[in-house]
Amino acid sequence: MRSPRCAWPDCDRNVAWWLDLPICIYHAEAAVRAVEGHAEQQQAAKVEQAETAVEKIETGVALTPEDPIPGWVYYIRIGDTVKIGYARNVAQRMRAYPPNAQLVAVEPGTKVLERKRHQHFGAHLAHGREWFTPCDELDDWIGTLRDFYGDPSGKAYVFTTPTDRPHRPEAVATKRIANRRR
Ligand SMILES: [Zn+2]
Repeated sequence: MRSPRCAWPDCDRNVAWWLDLPICIYHAEAAVRAVEGHAEQQQAAKVEQAETAVEKIETGVALTPEDPIPGWVYYIRIGDTVKIGYARNVAQRMRAYPPNAQLVAVEPGTKVLERKRHQHFGAHLAHGREWFTPCDELDDWIGTLRDFYGDPSGKAYVFTTPTDRPHRPEAVATKRIANRRR
């Protein structure tokens, strides 16, 4: 009796019976390569998207709702100091702070953006490199971020980003400050 043939069009090889598939070993391997190639391509596309988002944030270009969020610059308040930090997972990072730490604002960001914020508010440094004394400008900035990304404490650390506008709070902040000066 003739053993079963591969179901692949125009293939006349024996079925690789130990695979429990109606195809030969060559076509089974071809299928595996195709699946792996597809997964690699998707992975590469994801990495590229992530790199693009980081570059956008670091050069001040607005993110689109499709851009993946690489991490968050977060603002927490403990007593009368504000800490500005960076974390990929803010909810997890919050566990490192005492219970009286209040998460007051977040923005999509990177380590580089965090450093930029530290420099920007450098004149109000309270201690260390990341603890600041609240001032009008910092309060205003936190207000802007809350307008933009919502109150992070009320969201139980599940962060969403606005889908109806680009992620660029700087533009809003500039406008607010200009309005106040008028
Ligand atoms: Zn075959």
